[in-house]
Amino acid sequence: ALIVQRRMKNSAKWAKAMAILKDFEEKCDTPIGKLKQVADAMTVEMHAGLASEGGSKLKMLISYVDNLPTGDEHGLFYALDLGGTNFRVIRVQLGGKEGRVVKQEFTEVSIPPELMVGTSEGLFDFIAEELAKFVGTEGDSFFHVSPGRQRELGFTFSFPVKQTSIASGSLIRWTKGFSIEDSVDQDVVAQLTKSVEKKGLDMRVAALVNDTIGTLAGGRYDNNDVIAAVILGTGTNAAYVERASAIPKWHGLLPKSGEMVINMEWGNFRSSHLPLTEYDHALDLESLNVGEQIFEKIISGMYLGDIVRRVLCKMAEEAAFFGDTVPSKLNVPFILRTPEMSAMHHDTSPDLRVVGNKLKDVLGLLLSFATLLQRVEPRLSAAGILGILKKIGRDTVKEGEKQRTVIAMDGGLFEHYTEFSKCLEDTIKELLGEGVADTIVIEQANDGSGIGAALLAASHSQYND
Ligand code: BGC
Ligand code: MG
Repeated sequence: ALIVQRRMKNSAKWAKAMAILKDFEEKCDTPIGKLKQVADAMTVEMHAGLASEGGSKLKMLISYVDNLPTGDEHGLFYALDLGGTNFRVIRVQLGGKEGRVVKQEFTEVSIPPELMVGTSEGLFDFIAEELAKFVGTEGDSFFHVSPGRQRELGFTFSFPVKQTSIASGSLIRWTKGFSIEDSVDQDVVAQLTKSVEKKGLDMRVAALVNDTIGTLAGGRYDNNDVIAAVILGTGTNAAYVERASAIPKWHGLLPKSGEMVINMEWGNFRSSHLPLTEYDHALDLESLNVGEQIFEKIISGMYLGDIVRRVLCKMAEEAAFFGDTVPSKLNVPFILRTPEMSAMHHDTSPDLRVVGNKLKDVLGLLLSFATLLQRVEPRLSAAGILGILKKIGRDTVKEGEKQRTVIAMDGGLFEHYTEFSKCLEDTIKELLGEGVADTIVIEQANDGSGIGAALLAASHSQYND
């Protein structure tokens, strides 16, 4: 093997393949100056998105959440968390200031892939069925349901929604591999409610929230300094607390709190400063949502592995890197998923057989890819976060002022890639300088979006006052 390896390394093929890789690496580069430009562009787009409807690629959606949890929430509430390949149903007994989360239970169900691209009725009937099953087990679990009281649900729906109230809103478009045409522009809550009623389940949606909003609410419940939430998983997005008076497109009454939580939908951000390569463009063209979610396609988990596949594919085609023919599997879009990438990175003897039995060199190469991409994503996320901090004036600290800014972060990437979070924190330091960076805390929120939605259902309960 060693001889083969050496022969390969000296060959013109090898040189050609390395040139392809090097070119990719250069195009992915994210020097600090570029990240600052990305952050500035993010801030500019935030202003534009808040100024008028359709004013920016950043939707800056009004969540109708103008109060975050206080700790007083109490009672039994359900949450439904839909947004990826699985959905979760949660029930939680809230005990007010003293009791906090007294008890919680959940179930997780994977969504049959055909339902992700089928009909609205198909998807919501399936969900309602699982929801009804779970509610059916309540009696065995010592939860307190007040007699005669309708069950209430916080619905975490992790797609862009134009809200019309805290508990209604229409789907703008699907992302993350979902594509159910007859749902678009329709009220999400009405669709779920229809299926819930069909099942004979007596339950009302009290709050419809994005996962970023749920994570922010869950984060605030635990920590008063939480002012923003970022999701970095299958998809990516951020939400933050804005001054209501800084939202020109909001024509409603100014909330008492003076605040409004904004769902940025930053996955749809795009800027000429983003390090887009030919592979990113090709991926976009083959995706279900061409031209949309460009930031998401660069930094989120769903697409990371496929960038590697595309580079390898080019190395196979143009440098005969895997022999005279291109391994057929390498031509299948989205075959390399992030879990494999993550495993590769942590396993010192990787056993990824996707492209057949490869030489050590090839595996080493894959590893360097993982490392490379893993550097691009946290750095761009850090730039996005800086954009938010700038918008709300937390990128500086006034003399003598004590300030703490906590960002709740959730999603597979942050959770599983330890190096990811380290790189993210280092980049924030690099961007802000030690002094300010010391006031910024990135806190891991473990599935806070479910509890967060239940908390918001509690504060918007029909039985309040
Ligand atoms: C969706 C967002 C969501 C994010 C993370 C994106 O694809 O558009 O609404 O918050 O994924 O789940
Ligand atoms: Mg989630």
